[in-house]
Amino acid sequence: TIGATLEIQLVPFGINQKLLISRDVSHMEKLETMRRDFIANVSHELRTPLTVVGGFLETLMDMEGAVPESTRAYFGMMQEQTGRMRRLIEDLLTLSQLENSPEAPQETEIDLGTLLNMLLHEGVSLSQGKHEITLEPVEPGLFIKGATEELHSALGNLVSNAVRYTPQGGKINLKLFLRGNDIVFSVRDTGIGIEQQHIDRLTERFYRVDRSRSRETGGTGLGLSIVKHILTRHQGRLEIESEAGKGSIFSAVLPQARLIRKTPQEAQASA
Ligand code: ADP
Repeated sequence: TIGATLEIQLVPFGINQKLLISRDVSHMEKLETMRRDFIANVSHELRTPLTVVGGFLETLMDMEGAVPESTRAYFGMMQEQTGRMRRLIEDLLTLSQLENSPEAPQETEIDLGTLLNMLLHEGVSLSQGKHEITLEPVEPGLFIKGATEELHSALGNLVSNAVRYTPQGGKINLKLFLRGNDIVFSVRDTGIGIEQQHIDRLTERFYRVDRSRSRETGGTGLGLSIVKHILTRHQGRLEIESEAGKGSIFSAVLPQARLIRKTPQEAQASA
């Protein structure tokens, strides 16, 4: 068929022979596109009614006498659940946008020192004093070429996971370093950790080690899947090391080809 997508495979066959197998995968690709479009459309359609419900709930809670004390707790729960649904829909939309456009959007030069300080502050504010969060000093003048919002959201996700999966009193350390041809941003925590058999599956959509815990901490199960997509769009990857009961290290690894070193004068000029 003209325009068909063929998947070609060479498999060993007999002695010193190979068999060429070609399969038409256009049907599978079409189904995949339909699946993506469907998710994007459903999420989009659900967004408006949910915003309306959430908005009215908020109005009622704020309106004097509208919600009797005896039912206030139920209204609170409804608000919490609409919030959860909204986060889920936002994450689904983000994921489908990422899947539908494999290229990263407009790239800028991001000051790594500023970005990491922002991540530290976001982590501290999320932790509400329950953890000791530290950031290793970042060499000044380091910039990275990338999509600012995407990279901020991917790295922020790793920080928020560390906070959410580390019990009170635990430690979280953020660090940026160069290794071989890579730039590595690592988030180390002394949290609950993950058993080995789960590690390879964590970036799958909705994969969670412990469903109830993830729900309790406000998770949608889509975070790491979004992180993986964003890093891949930047020719990077996610590395995970973990030990159950001890803690984890989640590292966003990006190619050093994206790194820019600036003198203080150059940095000032681009600020
Ligand atoms: P969720 O919204 O459930 O947190 P994610 O995609 O962000 O979804 O993460 C997938 C799963 O990976 C989580 O449900 C959790 O089981 C595990 N996980 C992620 N980060 C950590 C961490 N820092 N420590 C322990 N487990 C983690």
